[in-house]
Amino acid sequence: MTTTFSGQLASIRLPTFTVPSLPPSHTRSPQETNRLKERIRRLLQEQNAVLVAHYYTDGDLQDLAEETGGCVADSLEMARFGTEHPASTLVVAGVRFMGETSKILNNEKRVLMPDLAATCSLDEGCPIDLFSRFCDEHPDYTVVVYANTSAEVKARSDWVVTSGIALPIVRHLAERGEKILWAPDQHLGRYVQRMTGVEMLLWPGSCVVHEEFRAEALEQMMQRHPGAAVLVHPESPQTVVDLADVVGSTTALIQAVRDLPNPEFIVATEPGIFNKMKQVAPEKTFFVAPTAGEGATCESCARCAWMAMNSLEKVAEVLESGTNEILVSPQLAAKARVPIQRMLDFAKEMKKKEQTSKKG
Ligand code: SF4
Repeated sequence: MTTTFSGQLASIRLPTFTVPSLPPSHTRSPQETNRLKERIRRLLQEQNAVLVAHYYTDGDLQDLAEETGGCVADSLEMARFGTEHPASTLVVAGVRFMGETSKILNNEKRVLMPDLAATCSLDEGCPIDLFSRFCDEHPDYTVVVYANTSAEVKARSDWVVTSGIALPIVRHLAERGEKILWAPDQHLGRYVQRMTGVEMLLWPGSCVVHEEFRAEALEQMMQRHPGAAVLVHPESPQTVVDLADVVGSTTALIQAVRDLPNPEFIVATEPGIFNKMKQVAPEKTFFVAPTAGEGATCESCARCAWMAMNSLEKVAEVLESGTNEILVSPQLAAKARVPIQRMLDFAKEMKKKEQTSKKG
């Protein structure tokens, strides 16, 4: 994948990387799944470990995380959960930057991942050397990076944000008269720019999954399901975002399923999230938004092949072998923690203000 952009997008040649094919789905019987879960339960207990899974991972894995006192969440909440849980080992089922963020915030804990090859197109498309040079060329911009980045890129930034908190942080920076250099997701960056009107320079990265959602096909689907609410993650193209009833992070989309009265939902994000959506609203029906389909650049069409690398089998294996440990040097972790902590402090302050204004 080699792309050049112009305009408000940075004119940068992104590195080439390969998106893997979706791994074949497992062929376990329900009895085998239960035996495997039992084995993992025992290993977690023996090793004072806790399982932390992302909403996009396999449903069995998400269920086991919750059944064993772990958590299923977005990337920020996954990292925060690790800091508050007393376990000495965190098994992070997700993609590499999530394991790294957990390690950055919990440097004294052991962090294991089911598959170290599980990465993210946003992370791959924003290598530190290229990014650092770009920041150096724009010293008058405040550097804001999305959580889907390497520890090195986080360490080079002023702020780390998630999709859930990007808008208030960028508004806050704009009030201080700051201009923003945003990386790596151009679609989320453009959405934040449109919502805030702030001057932003966008890195030209994208998520290979969300980028495949298509507005025209979505409009046709909406006509077939006139009672459905359309939920869109802002990593999707602008034309798709424009059709949404709700635009937001994975957590916000799950909240919308809970809050909205609609019996049906068309969802433009990775369908692993349906596991949680069905849990919070079992009586409702969910459809994955249409993607480019035949000829699409994605291998999976709305499935993230990297997230799909996580499985119960691999969780059991890493707990037994102690392999796939995430290591981040204490020096790098200390640097990368600064912009993450800034975001966490901002979130805490924001929550406090909201509570005060509710009381008032
Ligand atoms: S869904 Fe997109 S943003 Fe999320 S891990 Fe996969 S490639 Fe990265």
